[in-house]
Amino acid sequence: MQLPYQLTQQKQVHRLWKSIQLIFWSIGCVIFLALIFFPKTGVLLFWNILIPVAPALLVFATGFWRNVCPLSTTVLLPRYLNVSKRKRISVQWQSRLHFISILALYIIVPLRHPVFNNNGHATALLLMLLIAVGITMGFFFDWKSAWCSTLCPIHHVEKLYGGKQLFSLPNAHCTECVNCSLPCPDSTPNFHPGKAHKSILQKINALLIIGGFPGFIWGWFQVPDVYDTTIPIQLFNVYALPWMGAAGSIILFLCLISFLDKKSADVLIQIFAAAAVSTYYWYRIPELFGFSKIGKDGLLISLKNTLPEWVITFLVILLISVFVWWLVFNKTRHKSWLIRPVFAKRKEQAFHSLNKQ
Ligand code: SF4
Repeated sequence: MQLPYQLTQQKQVHRLWKSIQLIFWSIGCVIFLALIFFPKTGVLLFWNILIPVAPALLVFATGFWRNVCPLSTTVLLPRYLNVSKRKRISVQWQSRLHFISILALYIIVPLRHPVFNNNGHATALLLMLLIAVGITMGFFFDWKSAWCSTLCPIHHVEKLYGGKQLFSLPNAHCTECVNCSLPCPDSTPNFHPGKAHKSILQKINALLIIGGFPGFIWGWFQVPDVYDTTIPIQLFNVYALPWMGAAGSIILFLCLISFLDKKSADVLIQIFAAAAVSTYYWYRIPELFGFSKIGKDGLLISLKNTLPEWVITFLVILLISVFVWWLVFNKTRHKSWLIRPVFAKRKEQAFHSLNKQ
């Protein structure tokens, strides 16, 4: 049983997290409104500031992002307002939804080149669609099983990048654990997409994201933004290169893993995670600062006349070294993203025993 001072401490921590959530939710709203009313600024804030920071955040502080993601806070509203039917999703259905969301990731991201990268309204529409799906799911299913741990396309990237955590943070959303997701990605130590691989679909899901993501990212960066969507070959390339890249890295992953035992396979998963995030920043940082080889796509601010190119290359190599060390060589600490809250049943039992006293 918890002592009164522990309860007070917990309440204070919870209040602090709620304030941080509110700050991030407000930032999310500002970006969303900017996408609608000031599309150019909105695109800059969303695609050239928020999204480039996100992968690093997912590597080093997955739990923090799980606590403060504005989309997550929004889609959990039915649960917060107590209007959710709070159903549980079976493990089989969870795998099906995972498959759909990985496909969504691989279909939506290439569309950035011809549609979203330069169109604030289209990006706002995409976010509205995701929110509508998430909230609808939230009306039926409990806590994060509805969206954050199943259908959210970013969730698979969280799982791929978030395999090594320094510490577990308190869970700022779930007030009690109802075992809504099995296994719960927030509460399972060293979670990665290969953790649940009993059924064939679970194995396919793991392969698509672990094996496919590094090649997918590489292919994505070979395609320039498309301004004239009437040229069929450009639209073909938008999908062909990322998907061919994904297929290539899946084949490489399958070849390598066939020689490995369980322990070495876990290291291989971390190597592929490091390859994916490193490939992203290898291309994205030069793009952000005007050193891209393919025009002005994804430009945040041009430093071309201010800094020599080797400075950017040096910084990128430094960052990549940190990712490789963190994900591959850093010791595994048996930490989950978040601390599992008390189980609902235990909470109920504690409540009854207090009433009996
Ligand atoms: S902590 Fe429990 S209630 Fe919250 S998402 Fe995980 S399984 Fe669901």
